[in-house]
Amino acid sequence: MSIKDKLLKIKSALPEHVTLVAVSKTKPISDLTEAYNAGQRVFGENKIQEMTEKWEQMPKDIHWHMIGHIQTNKVKFMAPYVSLIHGVDSLKLLEEINKQALKNNRIIDCLLQIHIAEEETKFGLNEDELEDLLVSESFKNLKNIKIVGLMGMATFTSNQNQIKKEFEYLKSIFDTNKSLSIVNCDLSILSMGMSGDYQLAISCGSTMVRIGSSIFGGR
Ligand SMILES: *Cc1c(COP(=O)(O)O)cnc(C)c1O
Repeated sequence: MSIKDKLLKIKSALPEHVTLVAVSKTKPISDLTEAYNAGQRVFGENKIQEMTEKWEQMPKDIHWHMIGHIQTNKVKFMAPYVSLIHGVDSLKLLEEINKQALKNNRIIDCLLQIHIAEEETKFGLNEDELEDLLVSESFKNLKNIKIVGLMGMATFTSNQNQIKKEFEYLKSIFDTNKSLSIVNCDLSILSMGMSGDYQLAISCGSTMVRIGSSIFGGR
């Protein structure tokens, strides 16, 4: 199947309230263009430099999402154009995003990444760290960022029950915090689900899925 056909097939099966992020990391511009020509406007990348090169070359109505782990010193390269940063997991990083957003006279939308997997290596805040961050004074003073939701990655396992439990856990944290009234935090997006588990994620309440290999092929 072509990229176009795979994309359209996945898209047509998604509920209306679920946003598809086409994860195009490592893929050439020609592949992104094929997806773009099939109507895709939201692309996800995990390296700031690669995303910036693609942003320079691609049409300007694309929404670029940073889904990877972020190095503080590279935030400035994406600050002029990034539309959503998924993997934010520290106040220090938020402060840098805020600083660069201010320089660009923008408010940058971010998702806080929550650690839900068993693996030690997956980044993210735990539930207590999330709450500490949201109620802190330093957080309230960040006027050029907005927390619009949460993001998480399940354990890499074939055990569907475990993945389901982890997604349900993230959904429960989302529900607990979604009525918080803080100026720069209004949770409406729950980013969970990749090629292998997005249907399960949607059944657990995901509103944004990040799909790469099922659209563009293996990497
Ligand atoms: C690569 C990546 C994806 C997409 O993974 P696929 O299995 O190719 O769909 C989703 N989310 C994050 C954070 C990624 O790094």
